[in-house]
Amino acid sequence: MNIEKDKVVTVHYRVSEPQGEVIEDSHDDEPLVYLHGYNAMVQALEEAMLGKGVGDKVSMTVEDAYGKREEGQLQRVSINHIVRDGKAKPKLKPGMMVYLNTKQGTRPVTVVKVGLKSVDVDTNHPYAGKPLQFDVEVLKVRDATPDEISHGHVHGEGGVHH
Ligand code: ZN
Repeated sequence: MNIEKDKVVTVHYRVSEPQGEVIEDSHDDEPLVYLHGYNAMVQALEEAMLGKGVGDKVSMTVEDAYGKREEGQLQRVSINHIVRDGKAKPKLKPGMMVYLNTKQGTRPVTVVKVGLKSVDVDTNHPYAGKPLQFDVEVLKVRDATPDEISHGHVHGEGGVHH
């Protein structure tokens, strides 16, 4: 069975910087399960996955995988809202990627300047505007159920339980 719209696809993937530093690696964790054709993945990558089958590998560099960098995204926030490695009140340095707790949930940001009680952060995604290397291996492909298609996401193993 090959990947097309409305297939549930299980993959192992690795995202790295062009210099080779690994940013995310599903081999450290469970494989990723996604519903193909619903923008669950970076668009260029989903397009490259089309027609692939179990055992196939896709390796590609994606420009702006996390969107383009925008100017004027600096924000001063309370140090209490910053989390790093799951810990509150972490030791902060400019350039560090941390998580900001917001009403909408946590989002990754980059530390620009550290004060005593506040931190200036750049709210662009830390990898916005950077080319990233994606290496994906297809482990499993199955038909989506009608429920999954109407919800636009995977149910059961690796997906949403409700
Ligand atoms: Zn659902």
